[in-house]
Amino acid sequence: MDQAQALGTSYDVIVAGGGPAGLASALSFAREGWKVCVVERAPEEVLAHPSFDGREIALTHHTVQWLKDYDVWGEIDPSAVCPLQTARIESGDASEHPLLFQPPEQTDSTSVSEELALGFLVANHIIRGALYRVVSRTKGITLCCGRALTGYRVGRDHVRVTLDHHKSLVGKLLVGADGRFSRLRDMAGIGAIVHDFGRNILVCRMRHLPPHDYTALQWFDENQTIALLPVAPDGGIGDVSSLVLTLPPDDIARLRAAPDDVFNAEISKRTRERLGTLRVVSERITYPLKAVYAHRFHTDRVALIGDAAVGMHPITAHGFNLGIKGQETLVREIEAGNGDPGDRRALERFSARHRRDTFPLFAATNAIAVAYTRDEKPFLLARRAGLMLADRLTPFKKAVTRLLMDPAG
Ligand SMILES: Cc1cc2nc3c(=O)[nH]c(=O)nc-3n(C[C@H](O)[C@H](O)[C@H](O)COP(=O)(O)OP(=O)(O)OC[C@H]3O[C@@H](n4cnc5c(N)ncnc54)[C@H](O)[C@@H]3O)c2cc1C
Repeated sequence: MDQAQALGTSYDVIVAGGGPAGLASALSFAREGWKVCVVERAPEEVLAHPSFDGREIALTHHTVQWLKDYDVWGEIDPSAVCPLQTARIESGDASEHPLLFQPPEQTDSTSVSEELALGFLVANHIIRGALYRVVSRTKGITLCCGRALTGYRVGRDHVRVTLDHHKSLVGKLLVGADGRFSRLRDMAGIGAIVHDFGRNILVCRMRHLPPHDYTALQWFDENQTIALLPVAPDGGIGDVSSLVLTLPPDDIARLRAAPDDVFNAEISKRTRERLGTLRVVSERITYPLKAVYAHRFHTDRVALIGDAAVGMHPITAHGFNLGIKGQETLVREIEAGNGDPGDRRALERFSARHRRDTFPLFAATNAIAVAYTRDEKPFLLARRAGLMLADRLTPFKKAVTRLLMDPAG
């Protein structure tokens, strides 16, 4: 369907935003037989060939199962998938008392079987490209790219969506999947908790000779937070890890602009050479560190999903995973509703369920992020003690491991 036809058609569901959450929801709605239009402000070329954005997404078993069910996993080259064997959390200098998460039977650190992996790391642009390929060949989904949503109006049994260049679309339900600074959320008059951590994140891939052993390290050091995430082998010498460095904005800006050799030397020193000398092998990309939680996830004929609903701090690696869960809940509730995709009761149930599924993790993540980035002595001592205690609490460790590994989760 060309764009002129797309604009003249009416839809069951209009999705604002063709990011991972928006594309995933389009697949779920289309499978249930609903006619869907995805409005994305970027050109289709960007969706078809997304560029590296530095995010290595840790996928839970539940998300992988969803990607398999919707034929998206098959679009991802297996060599781009890095299984995760161990998550290791450290505070300050106390590397001798890490909090370790491992699947129950894992013993060999040189290879990891799929069932025994804690989760899987895949670059965000690869996931986005795979979603696009499946969406673009799915009947019942129209992509309306290079157009931004600029307004909407709700009628008795429909919603009329205005796009830039004075075009409009008509549907029954408008899904806001337009990211954590969602314009649709504002237009719908839905407020949000915005937690500004006053820090920025720098992400890039770095090569090193010692193996990463499929271990993700989250290290809350004094004055800096560092994550080193394992990346699938790329055929080069040594292993590659993704650096996720959190610092005040000025430091991040300086490091982003630093020449490669200066950057490598500083990062090797900041990581205390735990993976030897690190060498940057990708673009360096920065993000502001702000977590967002919408006050409500719906209003008349509008539902919010993905980061527009819950924009997580990346420390617990759950933004995309919760995006998958949210759109599943939305489609399930609409399916159980009165046959109108904008059914108010179904939207209320979706909102309540998604809040239950997300708020405890959102609150806990922010609490951890705050407690672990304050460097006053009592905080340092408390978090070291906290890690030691948590490491000995078998039920706690089992619960977190289950959260990552349960395909039905
Ligand atoms: C450094 C980092 C690491 C992360 N690691 C993980 C991880 O390990 N695990 C995990 O689960 N999550 C992780 N995340 C979170 C994850 O990347 C996000 O949750 C996910 O990308 C959000 O997808 P989305 O589709 O909701 O939003 P977005 O990806 O922001 O997509 C929104 C889309 O809407 C479009 N848009 C915006 N406004 C309009 C408009 N007016 N009209 C039309 N289109 C519009 C945009 O162009 C964009 O394509 C990480 C995030 C960061 C920053």
